[in-house]
Amino acid sequence: MSVPLKNPAEIEIIRRACRIQSEILNAVCSAVAIGVSTGELDELAEKLCRARNVRPAFKNYHGFPAAICASVNDEVVHSIPSAKKILKNGDIIAIDFGVVLDGWNADSCRTVGVGEISAEAKNLMERTKESLYRGIEKAVAGNSTGDIGHAIESFVKQFGYSPVRETVGHGIGRKLHEDPEVPNWGKAGSGVKLAEGMVICIEPIVNAGGAEILTEKDKWTTRTMDGNLSAHFEHQILIREGAAEILTPWDELVDSL
Ligand code: MG
Ligand code: MG
Repeated sequence: MSVPLKNPAEIEIIRRACRIQSEILNAVCSAVAIGVSTGELDELAEKLCRARNVRPAFKNYHGFPAAICASVNDEVVHSIPSAKKILKNGDIIAIDFGVVLDGWNADSCRTVGVGEISAEAKNLMERTKESLYRGIEKAVAGNSTGDIGHAIESFVKQFGYSPVRETVGHGIGRKLHEDPEVPNWGKAGSGVKLAEGMVICIEPIVNAGGAEILTEKDKWTTRTMDGNLSAHFEHQILIREGAAEILTPWDELVDSL
């Protein structure tokens, strides 16, 4: 496996792509409200992409029909937005979104609540987000992808949660998904060694119950087998000798979930 390293000029474009991606993601998350459809959120994402001169990275990727993946409650990942899917009080929604700027991809995801959410939902969201930051702490040159996965899995398991096994984090660059794979589980020290200049996405997708998931008839939308909630957070980061640089600054641009 050869993992492409990005040079400083490329990293500068990727940084700009990630900044725009995060600003649009946050605008879409801010539009989440009771009575809004996931289709409307998708339209907003597309409109903002046009306004910022970026291309929505997911649209037509392997045939995916929309700009965002909008996964509500027990939906896990890759859910197709729809004008018929109306958000209601107490829902949680993971909005996964990517852009392409000058041929370079940016990809991140946040889960947000709709109206008043349950303590159970809030805990799942906060702990899944915390697991992402624990993974990022291990994402330094000289460590391995297994160190990241181990940090994520060991943190969420203590709450009886399960990282989903079908989807993994990934390298990113000219392609949306590049080597290496970055699983949300694993043994410390195993996997691919991280090196300065790698750009990867870490994206724990965590079920409140079991890890098993089902795929819907639309061949995209997945949901938890046991009907429990699922949450998803993702950052795109640059591997360095010291701490990683978080390239998608959605968390700095907002006060809270
Ligand atoms: Mg991703
Ligand atoms: Mg993503």
